[in-house]
Amino acid sequence: MLHITDLVVRYGSAVALDGVSLNVGRGEMVALVGPNGAGKSTLINTVSGLLKPASGSVVVEGTVAQVPEGRQMFPDMSVEDNLLLGGWSIRNRQLDEVFDLLPDLAGMRRRKAGRLSGGQQQMVAIGRALMARPDLLAIDELSLGLAPIVVDELAEHLRYLNTERGTAVLLVEQEVTLAFNLCARACVLEAGRVVVTGPSSELAESDAVRKAYFGDL
Ligand code: ATP
Repeated sequence: MLHITDLVVRYGSAVALDGVSLNVGRGEMVALVGPNGAGKSTLINTVSGLLKPASGSVVVEGTVAQVPEGRQMFPDMSVEDNLLLGGWSIRNRQLDEVFDLLPDLAGMRRRKAGRLSGGQQQMVAIGRALMARPDLLAIDELSLGLAPIVVDELAEHLRYLNTERGTAVLLVEQEVTLAFNLCARACVLEAGRVVVTGPSSELAESDAVRKAYFGDL
């Protein structure tokens, strides 16, 4: 449902993505990993339409919603109002559905988003993206700055969402173990190019990935 072909994205004369191709199937979860500056955020931002490619194409069959890096709450607005910013036309019906999917949010709906913990804010950011009833959820850094136990809980919610609703996920994630556990398939990006794409279980065993990300060998 997501087809990225020969994508080139530049910032001025600097090439951030240099011929990237990647597909995400309907209902599939794909991890995007790679070192700092590899181009992961650039790819996510191009998929969600925030950046325009210099060449190549991004075709999405359906709706994409993004969970941005660093969560990007409106801190003085309530949780509910932050969620409502994520949906436009079908807001109130969709709000109930998001509260069904992420029940913790219902209990904190009137609280100011800026007063919540990082993990709670990430849940609001995911809920806000779900307000658009996306077919593809593009997540830029799920675990950033969060305690492992909180990350496990968020990962469970994503698994549930994927299984129950068939929402596809493209996950940019620094924590390679988490990324590979959550997503059956993964893509390793380095310096704007795809190094390898394949089943996460195979990638986790590959020499290149073990050396680069687990400090083995
Ligand atoms: P990180 O894991 O550190 O977030 P990343 O893989 O998401 O890194 P990007 O943020 O996509 O990488 O950056 C890819 C390249 O593009 C880097 O060389 C970066 O310096 C450059 N870049 C990113 N944003 C801009 C910008 N707004 N203007 C100019 N160059 C940029």
